[in-house]
Amino acid sequence: MVTPSLYLQGKGAIYHLGQKALPFGDKAFVVGGRTALSIAGDRVRKSLDSNGIEVVGWKDDIKDCTHATINRLVEDGKRCKGHFVVGVGGGRAVDTAKVVAWKMKVPAMTIGTQCATNADASIESIIYTEDHKFLEDLVLPRSPVLVIEDTEIISKAPFKYMVWGMGDALATKFESEAYAKTRQKKRDGVWPTASALALADGCFKSLMEHGFKAITDLKNGIHSLDVDDVIEAVKLSSALAFENTDCALAHALHNGLTKTGQVKGEHGEIVAYATIVQTVFEKRPKDEIRQIVEWCEKVGLPTKLKAIGEPSKAALRQAAEWACDKDRNAKNMPVKMRVGDLLEAIEQVEHGI
Ligand SMILES: [Zn+2]
Repeated sequence: MVTPSLYLQGKGAIYHLGQKALPFGDKAFVVGGRTALSIAGDRVRKSLDSNGIEVVGWKDDIKDCTHATINRLVEDGKRCKGHFVVGVGGGRAVDTAKVVAWKMKVPAMTIGTQCATNADASIESIIYTEDHKFLEDLVLPRSPVLVIEDTEIISKAPFKYMVWGMGDALATKFESEAYAKTRQKKRDGVWPTASALALADGCFKSLMEHGFKAITDLKNGIHSLDVDDVIEAVKLSSALAFENTDCALAHALHNGLTKTGQVKGEHGEIVAYATIVQTVFEKRPKDEIRQIVEWCEKVGLPTKLKAIGEPSKAALRQAAEWACDKDRNAKNMPVKMRVGDLLEAIEQVEHGI
């Protein structure tokens, strides 16, 4: 089971950083995005200081997870002889921090500041080119030793981040279940675990039960237990479930759609739409599909092509061809993905379930 060593979530969880980091050394190399560190930086310093940990490096200029940024930070980290790397921020910042730590041969710790990504607890890092095109998906040898999700900080981030995070997490149950049916080994040679499927199911139930309330509360500036439950579903359950199974049709179609250049929207928004297509493709019961569509409508995730830029018929074919024939996630479906069947599922979603 691929998992971080310690996951801490709650109000003020960030203040446990120093005490939990101390077994790994007393020289911290802190990296992150500018906004993230302007919000959480003081608390990071305070917790490290009060535990006698010296901040030997502080870089708050991560914009994207590219090889150039990683190499530059590895040089900085080695020069200041950090004993561990603390990555603070969104997906790009924590993904960068994890690779930097690995290249420095020291442990990685991550602190999330918004809920759009499940990268914090993940063993993988997505690397982009300088012009923000997907380059590679790097599977690191180990997960972070410490993941901190301070719900006080995350609940103050714009609510749209949580909507996007939920959109991505929505796919987890359906992709995990599809993948498990194929009985394949993971890329690093391990088998998917049954626990991962239980987490995927728990993640889905939590989104259905708490998602709408959480978004409503965030809009009204209320930090409720529903908000905490959704943070856990996105940050922990979906990360571990995905990590111990794999993506499938929803992400394959997402990748195909983004390649057409005719689709707009955030990763989580496009994935949510593609998840609906996957459930139709799988011929799941209509009630189950309707529940997902209605939930997406309530929380503000796209359910029709119009909401993601209305790609042309030719673009849809191009997207389906990529998803079925070229995307590596296509083989994670228990039945062969055929272009005609996928286009038919897209058509059905358009016309209503
Ligand atoms: Zn995703």
